[in-house]
Amino acid sequence: MGLVEITARLRAAERAAGRAEGAVTLIAVSKIQPAERVLAVLDQGQRVFGENYVQEAAGKWPAWRQAYPGVDLHMIGPLQTNKAKVAVELFDAIHTVDRPSLAEKLARLAQGRGTSPQLFVQVNTGAEPQKAGVLPEQLDDFVAACRMMDLPVAGLMCIPPEAEAPGPHFALLRDMAGRNGLAGLSMGMSADFEAAVAAGATHIRVGSAIFGDRVKPPAAG
Ligand SMILES: *Cc1c(COP(=O)(O)O)cnc(C)c1O
Repeated sequence: MGLVEITARLRAAERAAGRAEGAVTLIAVSKIQPAERVLAVLDQGQRVFGENYVQEAAGKWPAWRQAYPGVDLHMIGPLQTNKAKVAVELFDAIHTVDRPSLAEKLARLAQGRGTSPQLFVQVNTGAEPQKAGVLPEQLDDFVAACRMMDLPVAGLMCIPPEAEAPGPHFALLRDMAGRNGLAGLSMGMSADFEAAVAAGATHIRVGSAIFGDRVKPPAAG
């Protein structure tokens, strides 16, 4: 596969769903990919990227941002509160706001800096015990609390359970966003992004289908 094919499939999925061309932002997920693969995709013109680990991203993106103006960097992995400060300085968007302590920390940082990355609230749509995310029944209260703190919540994000069809999870996320007045929907990965586009995704997060299989296991941090 690769960027050209995935972009073509995304445009076709937008058309099939009756959505405007470019309605969906493709986030190229570059975590633990060799530098030459990421640079090749930058050279092809892609500017929106996703990373999972603050330290890994901090080690590579400041230099790449200098070399490739216009990079838009999204944090899509779990965020430890003690890395929130580095994260808000590095990322343009954070998709994994998933608990009150993190929201409070991000609010303090936003106050101090006078600006905040765009934020998505991660929802644990399958209520999986090992997975991060606000439980569906707690989502409305959590979004309200974020708004009380003046956090710029742009939308919701989910990672459906691996063993289940993703469609119902995408539909649930869309309904929750709708009733909370949120426009952003971060959902869909390499294996299911077309279903996510059909369900209304505004941001899809695609890694291996663009870059190839990830070669190293995820590092901590
Ligand atoms: C790694 C990751 C992706 C990309 O996964 P692929 O299957 O390689 O497309 C998307 N979203 C999140 C949250 C991830 O951690």
